[in-house]
Amino acid sequence: MSDNQNTSTRRDVIKAMFRSVGLLGLGGITWSGAVDKLKASELTLRPPGALAEKEFVKACIRCGTCVEACPYDTLKLATPDDYTAIGTPYFEPRKIPCYMCVDIPCVPVCPSGALDTILVSTINEKDKTSSLDINSAKMGVVIIDEKTCLAFWGIQCDACYRACPLMGSAISLEFKRNERTGKHAFMQPVINQDICTGCGLCEHACITEKPAIIVLPQKVATGSVGSHYIKGWDKDDDKRLNNLKNVEESNSSPENVLNDWEDLIDN
Ligand code: SF4
Ligand code: SF4
Ligand code: SF4
Repeated sequence: MSDNQNTSTRRDVIKAMFRSVGLLGLGGITWSGAVDKLKASELTLRPPGALAEKEFVKACIRCGTCVEACPYDTLKLATPDDYTAIGTPYFEPRKIPCYMCVDIPCVPVCPSGALDTILVSTINEKDKTSSLDINSAKMGVVIIDEKTCLAFWGIQCDACYRACPLMGSAISLEFKRNERTGKHAFMQPVINQDICTGCGLCEHACITEKPAIIVLPQKVATGSVGSHYIKGWDKDDDKRLNNLKNVEESNSSPENVLNDWEDLIDN
């Protein structure tokens, strides 16, 4: 199958999901915009540690070092036939997923910073040192099409669950009584988006003709609540609220207040 056909397949799957599944099963994730408006390039999955798409495309010097470093041939460099910036690395999990190498060889070799080790590292709180941690990667967001996932039909299938390197945490099986038969149970996969890395091993393992579980770039799959909502239980939001109070209590001119507001929103 050509890369072009692969991209089309991903688009077909996503369109089918929109037609059939609506917003069900997205585990709190919401969709924005209609899929027909999406450019295929927006569906491109980048290597672990990649900067946000715009910055990544600007920073990547198309050297292919990350591609060469990947022992699984997961990463490809986009050709003129692909729907993304030519020469930039991407991967298609249905074909070859990211195997979540512990030493993440593709990232530290990047000479341009387009792949950033900080984005695949965790900080040791005791000595403030950082160490590579592939489990902190965020390559994409996983969604499940409940209409075509066999587990949601009541058929026993845990292929995605078993393929996951973070089985039991990134993906778990939820037991539910099957009211239709009255004597069987559903074992439905559920994604924990905070833990899932978007490696795509689940998409790769899915046994349906077109995968019922797929990885999408975060920007495509997640919504945006707007900066005027503040979560009282969130430390960062709490900070924004306090900053806002300070602004209101200050004797700033209306212009300054407006500028401060912009700062708050940016933060
Ligand atoms: S983590 Fe490993 S498998 Fe994944 S893209 Fe990097 S080198 Fe390839
Ligand atoms: S190593 Fe970095 S600069 Fe080179 S192709 Fe990969 S992402 Fe781009
Ligand atoms: S993408 Fe799939 S296999 Fe990879 S961590 Fe997430 S749930 Fe597990």
